[in-house]
Parts: sequence; structure tokens; C-alpha cells
Amino acid sequence: MARVYNFSAGPSMLPQAVLEQAQSELLDFQGSGMSVMEMSHRGRYFSEIAQALEQDLRDIMRIPTNYRMLFLQGGASAQFSFIPQNLLGEKTTACYVNTGAWSQKAMQDAQHYCEVVVSASAEEMNFTCIPHSSLWHIDPNAAYLHYTSNETIHGVEFNAVPDAQGLPLVCDMSSNILSRHIDVADFGLIYAGSQKNMGPAGVTLVIVREDLLGKCANTVPALFNYSEQVKNQSMLNTPNTYSWYLMGLVLKWVQAQGGIEALEQRNIAKAATLYEAIDASSLYHNPVDKTCRSRMNVPFVLVDETLDSLFLKEAQANGLQELKGHRMVGGMRASIYNAMPESGIEALIHFMQEFERTH
Ligand SMILES: *Cc1c(COP(=O)(O)O)cnc(C)c1O
Repeated sequence: MARVYNFSAGPSMLPQAVLEQAQSELLDFQGSGMSVMEMSHRGRYFSEIAQALEQDLRDIMRIPTNYRMLFLQGGASAQFSFIPQNLLGEKTTACYVNTGAWSQKAMQDAQHYCEVVVSASAEEMNFTCIPHSSLWHIDPNAAYLHYTSNETIHGVEFNAVPDAQGLPLVCDMSSNILSRHIDVADFGLIYAGSQKNMGPAGVTLVIVREDLLGKCANTVPALFNYSEQVKNQSMLNTPNTYSWYLMGLVLKWVQAQGGIEALEQRNIAKAATLYEAIDASSLYHNPVDKTCRSRMNVPFVLVDETLDSLFLKEAQANGLQELKGHRMVGGMRASIYNAMPESGIEALIHFMQEFERTH
């Protein structure tokens, strides 16, 4: 069976080389006589997988030594409540920037633990822009400032790291981690689910600056307590071993591609070609302000929405799958993470142009 171009927002495409390696090692991982899925997470083979995962990520993202990495479960969604529980300490407020559906979810969960100060909101603009950071209201007594660097549903992405005015900066990078250079030292905490740019679903990466640890109340379950997880190398309970392994393979693939900087150049080019095609057409439209269009998730509507279902059907027949937009925004969405090859973008544009010409 031929593989399709899968534009799903997540779980999303994995590099074919990663799947092939996993396939070749499925029954017998490096002479162990067993699958990674069957191994003890405390055994020799898996310990090596875990160490390489952490070291490769540290190298690829140039994570400074005063930051710790956690590989947890529960998705980025679980972090929405773990973050306030771990970072508030004696503080009673936290600042949130509301740029779309994912920031809103983070805010909703945080409200159970603290007063949420909305530092800025793009809601009135239907989340098509990012309010300029000079207009943000930042409470100097807040425990942290939270933002979502790429709004997966609305297709809005920050092009620069905002100024948190001295507060620890907390960022949900679920859908653009490893896609562009960032300086980890600008952040207090970074978190991201694995299923967009790092592997299959099932691992949540948390990168946290050491001085922010140790503030969690002891009524919080140990599994949700960052300090406890740090002490136990994220193995307080059995981790999602197979997803750790696959994430490790994706990191090796990232290195083989030339690292984040090389991928970023490709991502810039891929996104630019697709947006140019959309802007040049009279059938397709992207409503997001050009200064903050996402390189990872490209939503677009058909000006004549009665053509939506035909578009999806014909796209599918052409090997272009999962283009249906999120129900909140409608229309279409092409998610073009690191693993989407240039040929997938070309095939999509070619299809879109043909569809416009014939309808
Ligand atoms: C997908 C996504 C989430 C939710 O991830 P889960 O792993 O399903 O909890 C959160 N934030 C952003 C920005 C996302 O793209």
C-alpha cells in the first residue's frame, strides 16, 4: 500500500526512516531478543535508550545545564493544571496570554489554582493576530507568564519570544517545538506533547529551570510533582517506553537532517510556498495576519464553502489526507510539521490549483 501525505494536526506524520528503523527492530532490538515494548524500563537496554533520548534533546535544543528534562504522561493537557500546582508557590496570580483555543484551555485549568490575569487577548479579533507585547498587562507579582507559541487550531505563531518583564516565561510549544531555533535560557518552563513534531502520542516533554522546582505542595500526587519526577528520572511509574524509543529515533532523524536550524530553513520555505499559493488564488483564503501566520498549521477556507466536502473527497482520492479544519474554525487545515516533505507541499498546491481551475 502506498503511503499518503498526511496533513493531520496530531498525531501526525512521522519520518519514514524512523518507521522503517522501528520496523526493523520491532522483534529484536539490537540483539536483545525482544521488542522495546517488552523490556523492563529499568533494564540495561532501555536505560541506554532513555539516556540517549535526554542527551540528544539536550544537544539538539542546546539546553543549558541548569534545566532539567521530564518525559511525562497525560499530554500537554495535563500540564495545564500541573504548571500552576508546581510553579505558584506562595503566589496567588499567574499571567496568561490568550491567543487561541489552546491558551484558553490552559487558562481554564489554571483558574482552579490561582487568579488568572489575562495579559492580552486576541479573542475580539477571532484569534487572527497577536496583540503587540508593548500593550500587554503584566502583573509583577504573578508567579509566571504563560503563552502558546503556536496555536495549532487557529494557525497563529509567535515569531519572537515575548518579554515577560522578569517573570518566569512558561510556554506551550506542543506544535512548534523542534521546528525553529529558540534560546531555552529565555524560558522558565517549556512543555510539549510528543505527537506533533517529536514522535507518536504518549510523551509530554517538560523542560524546567532548576530554581523553579521545589514549590509544589505535598498534597499534590507525587506523579504530578516535578521535583519528585526529576528525582526519579521520570520513572516514578512505568513510562510509555515505546514512545520514548520512537521519540529517540525522531531526534536522531533531526540530527541527520542538520538539526533545528536546517529544519527551520526548510519549514520557512515550505510554509512560504503554501501561503503564496493561497494568497494568489481567488478560491482559498487564510485570515491570519501575515506577521504571525504559523509555519506548522496552515488553515484556509474555501470562499465557496459548498465546495468543502468535494474538496476533501478529491484530495483524499489524490493521496492528500486529514485536511479538514478543526470544527472551531471550519474550512481546511494543512499541518506541515518537520516530517512533511517538500513533495507533500507541492502535491497539495498542485491539487489545490487543479481544483480551483476545474470548479
Ligand atoms: C495538541 C496540543 C495540545 C494538547 O495536547 P494533548 O497531548 O492532546 O494533551 C496542547 N497545546 C497545543 C498547542 C497543542 O497543539
